Amino acid sequence: MTAAARAETTVVNVALGARAYDIVIGRGLLGSLGARMAALRPGAKAAIVTDATVARLHLAAASQALAAAGIAATPIVVPAGEESKSFASFERVCDALLSARIERGDLVVALGGGVVGDLAGFAAAVVRRGVDYVQVPTTLLAQVDSSVGGKTAIDSRHGKNLIGAFHQPILVVADTALLDTLAPREFRAGYAEIAKYGLLGDAAFFAWLEANWKDVFAGAPAREHAIATSCRMKAEIVGRDERESGERALLNLGHTFGHALEAAAGFTGRLLHGEAVALGIVLAFAYSARLDLIAPSEAERAALHLAAVGLPTRLAEVRDTLPGVDRLMDLIAQDKKVRRGKLAFILVRAVGQAFMAPDVDPAHVRAFLAEKLDEP
Ligand code: NAD
Repeated sequence: MTAAARAETTVVNVALGARAYDIVIGRGLLGSLGARMAALRPGAKAAIVTDATVARLHLAAASQALAAAGIAATPIVVPAGEESKSFASFERVCDALLSARIERGDLVVALGGGVVGDLAGFAAAVVRRGVDYVQVPTTLLAQVDSSVGGKTAIDSRHGKNLIGAFHQPILVVADTALLDTLAPREFRAGYAEIAKYGLLGDAAFFAWLEANWKDVFAGAPAREHAIATSCRMKAEIVGRDERESGERALLNLGHTFGHALEAAAGFTGRLLHGEAVALGIVLAFAYSARLDLIAPSEAERAALHLAAVGLPTRLAEVRDTLPGVDRLMDLIAQDKKVRRGKLAFILVRAVGQAFMAPDVDPAHVRAFLAEKLDEP
């Protein structure tokens, strides 16, 4: 028996009634993809949407897994990177799906990171008014976050993720062995989202991460545990609040500051999404301490862990990408609704206890940020 076959498989169900689905997590699962798809949609054919980098590394194995289950699959390859969440690329994917004669009842497979998942998921949402799709996330960020929950989108010149749809996949297959080819920096960026789950809602998980993060990075079974725990928390929250009318917003811990920093850096490789989230989490904790919601030592604890894994935690580390405080405040106001002159923020009462603060004073945030921008 191979190591892959011996490895444990965890199944997390996203309980959404008629739209419920499983997230299957384990090492070496890609080989079972075709059989899992055939079990759900016997006789369906498929198109595999992927990016050029992932195609080079993992498309052959994915195609083979489908062929082994008798599933004919057309590959659709887009360039790697956020640019592929454009209208032009979306049009090409929709066109290619129609050329491949993907009908309702067939399946779209999103094989890649969050970019491919968002793009292919949105194309699946609208082609022929909606076909089913399967997420096969290949980045850590996609395995713990973007492949779960049904948010799909492309970018507009007005901003990121502004054109999209809620469209739940029928299955998520997270093969953790695919992460072995991921650049260490991309892995670290995805880890910020894992830490986020502990920090927002599970203090025991955060303490576990503090003790075991090296094993998560090394690829030991701790990695599967961290991914499964993250998916379980996201699945529970999405199960209770699919359309983000309440609790799902807690998943945005660190994202209000983070998105502003990411936008300031121009969504370039200079600051990856997860890196911006790490900085955003540190700011959200520090701001919570400033409001006396938590002890400064708790804020320090969150920052220390993110710094230990190699994520940026001080604005000084990305100073060359940052505009002045007024521009940052503009970006924050654009990202989140300002209601009657107040900002909505996710803040914390403790490690593992995030909450939505709907009425934060922008002038107070501005003063706090100005101070942080000046710190060495
Ligand atoms: P990505 O998809 O661009 O992947 C990052 C890089 O890693 C790319 O260059 C890709 O080619 C490469 N790559 C992917 N898998 C690989 C592998 N196994 N081995 C080697 N290289 C590999 O970026 P991402 O960080 O996965 O996702 C970011 C996107 O996700 C953003 O567009 C963001 O808006 C979106 N997102 C969506 C949600 C959601 O709920 N839908 C949540 C969070 C983020």
